[in-house]
Amino acid sequence: MDYYFVNDNAMIDGSHMIHQEDCPELPYIKSKTLLGYHKDYLTALKQAEKTYFKIKTCKICCTVTVII
Ligand SMILES: [Zn+2]
Repeated sequence: MDYYFVNDNAMIDGSHMIHQEDCPELPYIKSKTLLGYHKDYLTALKQAEKTYFKIKTCKICCTVTVII
């Protein structure tokens, strides 16, 4: 379980990136919204979809293997 954040500022393609709380890129994001405490980035993604239409997951921190 980890805290997840979504970058409030969209990237060039209009998508918003999701990060874990311990991502090395997180301190450089000026404006972010806490998505809450999630078991993996997939449920964090669903939470972010309530706010933003286009979402991507960070290639650095959102690589945890999901066991279904
Ligand atoms: Zn990240």
